[in-house]
Amino acid sequence: MPECLRLFALSCNALSCILPCMRKTFVYKLYKAKRNKRLHQQINIGGVIHNHCIALHRRYYRRHKQYLSSHRLKSHVAKLKRLPKYAWWSQLGSQAIQDIIERIDKGYQRFFQNLNDRQAKKTIQRVGPPSFRKVRHAKSFTLKQAGWKLLGSNRLRIGSTVYKFAKSRDIEGTIKTVTIKRDALGDPYVYFSCLVTPQPISRVMTGKSAGFDFGLTTYLTGSDGSERHAPQPLKQGLRALAIANRQLSRKQKGSANQERAKQHLARVHKRVANVRQAFHWELARELCAQYDGMVLETLNLHGMQALWGRKVSDLGFGRFVQILHHVASKTGTVVHHIDPWFPSTKLCSECGHLNDSITLRDRVWCCPCGAIHQRDHNAALNIFREGASSLGGGRVSPTLSATAVDPRIPVL
Ligand SMILES: [Zn+2]
Repeated sequence: MPECLRLFALSCNALSCILPCMRKTFVYKLYKAKRNKRLHQQINIGGVIHNHCIALHRRYYRRHKQYLSSHRLKSHVAKLKRLPKYAWWSQLGSQAIQDIIERIDKGYQRFFQNLNDRQAKKTIQRVGPPSFRKVRHAKSFTLKQAGWKLLGSNRLRIGSTVYKFAKSRDIEGTIKTVTIKRDALGDPYVYFSCLVTPQPISRVMTGKSAGFDFGLTTYLTGSDGSERHAPQPLKQGLRALAIANRQLSRKQKGSANQERAKQHLARVHKRVANVRQAFHWELARELCAQYDGMVLETLNLHGMQALWGRKVSDLGFGRFVQILHHVASKTGTVVHHIDPWFPSTKLCSECGHLNDSITLRDRVWCCPCGAIHQRDHNAALNIFREGASSLGGGRVSPTLSATAVDPRIPVL
């Protein structure tokens, strides 16, 4: 092997050694079984302990004007468990109880941090302290090293009971935590959070990159002229949701029929969410395979929601961007966001003229330079050029520097 190649291989090896381990979670659905009742009981006990700890926090503060540390609370709860009155708490593993206390502690830390930030005028967003919640709304409990064991391929022992799960894929890396979670339908799932060494990315470059404009009529318009349309599952499911809600409201409180109607409503909601999620993943994978680099605008989701409401939630722009970043990090695609103040829609992509009179209704507009623009395509071209220049590629075409526009009125 030539010397330079050997050195290159060595440096690659060294790089893979210093790559930080990352967390990856594997989710499986548990088989339906009568013994799952125990898991529900354990989740409920977690809910009771959560409420008890919140009450202790509040009482401690009332009496001592001091914050109750998680360490003191842990030893106090451990003592309580020895009393006959609270002996039933022991059905939940001791590490799960510690986890509940740690989560409450984190909630308080976030609350105090936010309080300081708001006093220092760093943010206006308000974070509340952890609060009481209904036990039946409790969703999960988490175990760390103890209280569980993997037996064979798809059997998991929690406490003294063995549960089976539908093993759709292999678990990678070292398991750090095991979480049992139930969804709105009451189906339990197991989440294995593992520490894995990331694989080096091998990407076949396509040599293509583009800018994208989000829109309500066309979901994504590319600067290369491509268009992607999104399904609107909530719009399509509205009738089914209305019927399910109406049926639920007519059932007698606490009856078996009401429970059944609740389940049906949850199922309709889940179907809507599944359609949306499938679309997001498909589109993200398709885009990452097709483009080496992507430039997106930075969305002001709160402003958009205030203007268009339900439709914005139905399209799920925010979640799509999250998924896109995740897929891009795995496939080696670069995703870049431009300045939220950049007026992508108002600029002429030919001459850089700023058209302030453009309204939401104008799908096509004419620039004084003679260019006729299709609104979304023009915006995508501007986004791409702005992104390319801010990434250090130099100005690609005559564009003006970013001009301040009111971010509360997003122009799509
Ligand atoms: Zn022009």
